[in-house]
Amino acid sequence: MRTKRAMPIRTCVGCGSRESQSQLMRFTLGPEGALVPGRGEGRGGYLHPQRRCVRAFTAARSGFVRSLRVVVSRETRERYATLLEPSMTLWA
Ligand SMILES: [Zn+2]
Repeated sequence: MRTKRAMPIRTCVGCGSRESQSQLMRFTLGPEGALVPGRGEGRGGYLHPQRRCVRAFTAARSGFVRSLRVVVSRETRERYATLLEPSMTLWA
């Protein structure tokens, strides 16, 4: 019997649940500390492509993103949510 290669598992920074990487949308810390969606370089954070996860991430008291090892300010998170808004109309 063939052993299936394990899918990489990542944690959604919105709801905190673990999910296979393919179900999540990646972002990285761009220049000047902004969040940038996509593959990008360096360490990445992950979110479900769902409004409630983006909102939970934006509203979180602590903006610490473990995978990035940084605290992301509320302002930066709000800006990222605004950036995602056009595509959010397609989301659940
Ligand atoms: Zn989530």
